[in-house]
This record gives sequence, structure tokens and C-alpha cells, in this order.
Amino acid sequence: MKTVKDVNLQGKRVFVRVDFNVPLDGNGQISDRTRIVAALPTIQHLIDQGAKIILASHFGRPNGEKNLKYSLEPVAKVLSELLGQPVLFLPDCIGQSVQQAVQALDNGEVALLENVRFYKEETDNDENFSRELARLADAYVNDAFGTAHRAHASTAGIAKFLSPKVAGMLIARELEFLGDKTAHPQRPFTVILGGAKVSDKISVIDALLDRADHMVIAGAMAYTFLLAKGHKMGKSLVEPDKISIALAAMQKAEKKGVRLLLPVDSVVAERVDFETRKLENIQIVGLDIPESMCGVDIGPRSVALFSEVIQQSKTILLNGPMGIFEIKDAAKGTFALAEAIAKNREATSIIGGGDSVKAIKESGHSDDVSFISTGGGATLEFLEGKILPGINILDQ
Ligand code: AMP
Repeated sequence: MKTVKDVNLQGKRVFVRVDFNVPLDGNGQISDRTRIVAALPTIQHLIDQGAKIILASHFGRPNGEKNLKYSLEPVAKVLSELLGQPVLFLPDCIGQSVQQAVQALDNGEVALLENVRFYKEETDNDENFSRELARLADAYVNDAFGTAHRAHASTAGIAKFLSPKVAGMLIARELEFLGDKTAHPQRPFTVILGGAKVSDKISVIDALLDRADHMVIAGAMAYTFLLAKGHKMGKSLVEPDKISIALAAMQKAEKKGVRLLLPVDSVVAERVDFETRKLENIQIVGLDIPESMCGVDIGPRSVALFSEVIQQSKTILLNGPMGIFEIKDAAKGTFALAEAIAKNREATSIIGGGDSVKAIKESGHSDDVSFISTGGGATLEFLEGKILPGINILDQ
């Protein structure tokens, strides 16, 4: 895979697809700059090379209509602050005035286009719209890993019309950690999968059973596995129609010599109130969960068991929380494993996207892991071994 570091883009107009889909607070202010900061290395590299940089992103779900609630203008201000140079905000992403504005860019200057999803042609991957976007530039850089699993105009369609087309530094790092480091891991390699549903993670369980030495299955997913083994799961979140999948995964693990670990105890509660974030009548039980109770987190013996496995590992991949970590009393398992991962300084530790990123940040250990993926769906699909359209279209 070619990256921005492999090509000379000096003096070229470069269309850079980034992921500026930032969260806003109640006042419409950007509440977390992580995604903007994550795009800086590629942008700075292109500035240093003397390229003319045209940034494009989606933001929210404007459903193909121009809705200024989803304007990227506030991002231009923050980006300009972070880069220490002006960022020219363009109030559209195609059309004559945009073309004129980007023609006038000097080497090292940066422009940000308005939200590409103001056009439904973006998500339709419309060929004419892709061509219109391509008209703005000579070369293409994709650095939006979070949308690389979508074949949209700015993530895939446009690449047909531009050359070179290369990966940005963020995507290159995602490929290094989610790809190389898990395909050829330092062993033992421990995969820890949590979260709500087996049905969301079937393919990732299957793919990673081909690579891992240990696989921990926790979160509500574990309850379907324990149900398959004949345990009682009370009112816990289970998927009885996925029992056969759980059994197949356990058989595969045995055949491949992967040590598959399930929780040996659980934190349970009689009632889970998501609104007040309160649990009623919290208890710790063993493998079986009483009829009136619901499993909300892994218990202390499971924490000790999994932490010991983590301590012995050279590569660790975590995806999904161990319990309902949004509720404080059900977050201990997730945070304890985050701490165990952070403590193992010798290992390559990879946090795989989505809720796990939130969990590692809240645990205060995000600086102590090797890599935090910026994708949600893209991370899972990549780990499943799927070819992501936004990466597939780049120069090899
Ligand atoms: P996922 O998106 O599949 O990684 O799932 C994340 C969600 O799983 C979080 O919102 C957690 O609250 C939820 N989750 C984890 N453990 C449990 C559990 N024991 N019961 C219900 N939900 C859970």
C-alpha cells in the first residue's frame, strides 16, 4: 500500500478525505478534537511538502440536504488554530466557485470543503459527483479510516479519476496495527472481545480464532456462550438463536488450540435503569445467574483470571466493553482490564474502535496503550478480513 510518504506531491492539488465527523456539545461547540488532531500528521506532511491541500469530510447525517447544522465551518476554525495557519473554508464541495478557489491556492495552503453529505450523490457513490470532486485536484489521499468501509464518492468513487491515490498516515497506522501486528503477532496473542451481541461479532470471532493464542469472550456476548454450555443466565441479554454459532466457535477454538476463556463469575442486578444509571440489588454470582437477575459485568474472579492472561501476552487486542460500562457500578470489569493492559508495557496493545475507545479513555489509560483505532464499523470489518473499499482503491 502506497502512502503519502511514498509520493512527491509538491505543487500538486491534493484532495484529502479526512474524518472530521466530530462530536458537538449542547451549544453546538466541538466537544472533542480527537479526530481533527488525528488528521494533523498527514496535513502537516503535505504542507511541508508544498502541496495544495483540499480537505473533505462528512459531518453528521444531513441526509443529502444542505443543513447548516451540519456545516464544517467550525472545524475550519479549530484546524486553523491547531495548524497555526489559516484554513480557507469553502461553503460548498463542488461547483465553479469552489474550483476557482482551489485553483488560487498556493503551495502549502489549506482549504476545507463543506460537508460532502450535503449531496445525496456522496453516499450513492454517484459517478458524476465523484468526477466533480475529482476536478478540484490532481492527486488523492484517503486518511478517513472510519469511513473506509463505505464505498462513497469521496471515499472510493473519486479515486478512479485521480493519480496517484495513496493512504494518509492515519490509515497507514491503522493498517500497521490492525493488519500487520495482528496477522503476524508477537506471541502469545490475546484477543478480548466484549460488547452486547454475538450477532455483531460472529465474523470477527471466526477470523481472530485463526490468529489468536487466547480468546476472552466477555460482555453480554459471553452469556450466549455460557447458555450454550448449559448454564442458566436469568434475565441477562442472551441470543438463543446464536447458540449454534457459540458452539461452533468453541469447537473451532479447540481444533485450533486456542484457549477460549469465558467469565467464571458475574456482577448481577435485579434491575438495570439506563436512565438514572442505577442498578438495584447488586450481587456477585458464579457461572449460573439466578432467574430474577441480569448479568451486568464480569466479576472479580474473572478480572483476576483475564488479567493474568493479559500479563503473559505479547500482543493484546481489545474490542468491546466487559459489561454495561456506561453505568458506574457495572464498569469495574472494563476498567480493571484496561488497567491490566496498560500495565503490560512489553506488549503491543491495540484498542479496537467504538465503545472500547470510550472505555479506555474513561479509565484514564489511553496514553498507556500502543494503538487506539479510530474506526467503529471499519475496524470490525477490517479485523474480519474484509476488503475495505476506501483502501482497495488506493495504489498498491
Ligand atoms: P458493542 O457495540 O457490541 O461493542 O457493545 C457495546 C455495548 O455492550 C455497550 O453499550 C454495553 O453497555 C453493552 N454491554 C456490555 N455488557 C453488557 C451486558 N452484560 N448486558 C447488557 N449490555 C452489555
